[in-house]
Amino acid sequence: MAEWGEKGPLIGILGEFDALSDLSQKSDSLEKEAREEKNYGHGCGHHLLGTAGVEACVAVRDYLREQGVEGVIRYYATPAEEGAAAKTFMLREGCFLDLDICITWHPDSAKSVGGNTLSMIRAYFNFHGKNAHAAMSPHLGRSALDAVELMDVGCNYLREHVLPEVRFHYAITNSGGTAPNTVQSEAEVCYNIRAPRNGDMLDVYERIRSVAEGAALMTGTRVDVRPVSYYANHLDNTLLNRLTAEAMDQILDESYTESELEYARKYQSVLSEEGVKRAKENAARYLEHPTREQVDSPISLYGCPIGLPKSASSDAGNVSWNVPTAFFSCPCFAAGTALHSWQAVAQGKADLAHRGMHNAAAVMALTAVCLCESPELIVQAKEDFALAKGDEEYRCILPDHVKPGDF
Ligand SMILES: [Zn+2]
Repeated sequence: MAEWGEKGPLIGILGEFDALSDLSQKSDSLEKEAREEKNYGHGCGHHLLGTAGVEACVAVRDYLREQGVEGVIRYYATPAEEGAAAKTFMLREGCFLDLDICITWHPDSAKSVGGNTLSMIRAYFNFHGKNAHAAMSPHLGRSALDAVELMDVGCNYLREHVLPEVRFHYAITNSGGTAPNTVQSEAEVCYNIRAPRNGDMLDVYERIRSVAEGAALMTGTRVDVRPVSYYANHLDNTLLNRLTAEAMDQILDESYTESELEYARKYQSVLSEEGVKRAKENAARYLEHPTREQVDSPISLYGCPIGLPKSASSDAGNVSWNVPTAFFSCPCFAAGTALHSWQAVAQGKADLAHRGMHNAAAVMALTAVCLCESPELIVQAKEDFALAKGDEEYRCILPDHVKPGDF
């Protein structure tokens, strides 16, 4: 954490900086090509995310100092967003709570402001059975692997009876071994469970726990449930969304050079056709009186409607339930690029990625400066925050003994 300023509004900027495993990829390569002896890759652009935050803080400090405007700017280094949701633990320890306003962004292939992200929990389901020879004494065995399989089947039936935006996905993290002639006494499956709001997500989590109990009953095994990370949904803030959108209109530099456009065009040839098609459809839908050239631009020129919900999750959502939070995206990759893909990693050091990073820094800095110069906006943002929360109070649903890194 780093801070500048003595008094005035306290503005925090979040800077994620983590990577994804199994996404090693050579920069600027047009094919899937891992770097030697490297397992990780910046598939979600967090190297731009954290860096832009530093740039924004320095710009705000310089401006406040030169202009003599009151304000305190604070940078948070926030590690391990992917999988661990480290901000949940930082909040549990009291981080962020004294901020007046928090500002963050995320790299993407199009512009957006605000928008609900999905609430999510990650939990491990550990089944304990009885080991036995699978041919000579199967009647003595109680298979933990059977329980995992039955739980997965049960959950796949559950999908029909949940809200359409609900997502859950699993990985079998322990199949009980590699020997089919042994009844597996231990097996484990990890679930990510998501829903639009925290309460809906907890409801689905409870139902999935019941399915696990049912699978344990059917197989004569026992199940332990171990939740390890929690992402709250993003709470939109009407005033901050408007202010951020204005800052984007004012300061975003979209004078893309021919070489940036050419680079993006090249990457579009190795992206999924579906992704590129969707980007063009969005451009036609969201741009005002678009030309063919604008719709076909290899770098997206459109902005999603303010507050359009997203089907991803972020632990910045947890912060948004505690402090009024501004959140936006701007283009760092060719139109149609999916996050968490090798194509996103490959484009991570290109001119377009750098431009996106500088653009984001400028938007964050301008938003922060506007808030310091007009503190009445902060009062309004706090009122909007209270209205958006309604009766729901944020709580960390993880047991106290769960530590970051347990995931
Ligand atoms: Zn991300």
